[in-house]
Amino acid sequence: MIKLRYRIYALVTIFAFFAAGCVNNSSLTENSGEVKNIIFIIGDGMGLSHMYSTMTVYTGEMNITELKSIGFCKTHSYDNYITDSAASGTALATGSKTRNGMIGLAPDSTMLMSLIELAHLNGLAGGVVSTSTVTHATPASYVSHNISRNNYDEIAEDFLITQPEVFIGGGLDNFENREDEKDLVAELRKAGYNVVVSIEDLLEVDSDRVAGLLAPGHMPKMSEGRGDMLANSAKIAIETLSKNKKGFFLMIEASQIDWGGHANDTQYIIEETADLDKTLGVVLDYAKQNGETLVVVTADHETGGMTLTGGDLAEHSVEASYSTGGHSGICVPVYSFGPQSVRFTGFFDNTEIFEKFAYLLSLKE
Ligand SMILES: [Zn+2]
Repeated sequence: MIKLRYRIYALVTIFAFFAAGCVNNSSLTENSGEVKNIIFIIGDGMGLSHMYSTMTVYTGEMNITELKSIGFCKTHSYDNYITDSAASGTALATGSKTRNGMIGLAPDSTMLMSLIELAHLNGLAGGVVSTSTVTHATPASYVSHNISRNNYDEIAEDFLITQPEVFIGGGLDNFENREDEKDLVAELRKAGYNVVVSIEDLLEVDSDRVAGLLAPGHMPKMSEGRGDMLANSAKIAIETLSKNKKGFFLMIEASQIDWGGHANDTQYIIEETADLDKTLGVVLDYAKQNGETLVVVTADHETGGMTLTGGDLAEHSVEASYSTGGHSGICVPVYSFGPQSVRFTGFFDNTEIFEKFAYLLSLKE
């Protein structure tokens, strides 16, 4: 049923391109190329104002401008017009709406299979990278099933069950400094993981199973010296996952754009969004050379109700104002690059991103 719907959609899209007289080699690839790998970048809380303020302030071309297929995605959860990161993470990871606060579970608490679990069932590799703890809502949605996003120690145990080939971020305390005193780092090593706790050791790693737990809690802010942690982690994650010749799914989260939004802190937002863009550069280098990698960038929701009330392109400055210290209900942009990227144009629901990914990687339950 899903297949048929997509076939019709593909035909209509191709016809539309012929009709518009704008078929060239690159648009043919964007319409029809093989997708072996998907790299999905989530800017947590990253609305259009977050991106455009960063484009205004940073000189030079941003990598995001290379993503020519652009759409909009609805973010509401099962029980709320304004989603939280757990419900939207679950929608993106499993294709099902759920209640705010829930991870990888349907509204009635039944288990939902995530893209990484589906990738494993079909012989592909999967991974997550974030600048928060790896147990935080967005990465957790791909790995865990829990009634509450706040059960971080329980969520950490699910990494030993799902066993993504690579996971990199903060959150070491949820693995080795736990209330129940279990040593999950030892268990990860027993399960064949190369566990590293510093970025220096991460850069040396050459393994088909990597757990990078690079801080006790969340990673520091860019302004506190996080450096190229996200870009470097993306590089190592791609190197690790691409050892699987059948393909892979990788989710990379720039987690702290959301925290800048909650704090209504424009500088924080811009530094974290620029870090996402730098990481996107690493991802695009791989995707261009590989040719069978689809890259999609979006947000789980907008944070701050951020709008630009002034600015100066020559001075590279912006003035922003905010309508909330929480999330807003506005839809978010979806930017994509590579084979089949035209499928991510237009207006759609966040659950459809999962459906499109599962279809393109031919993932079956
Ligand atoms: Zn979020």
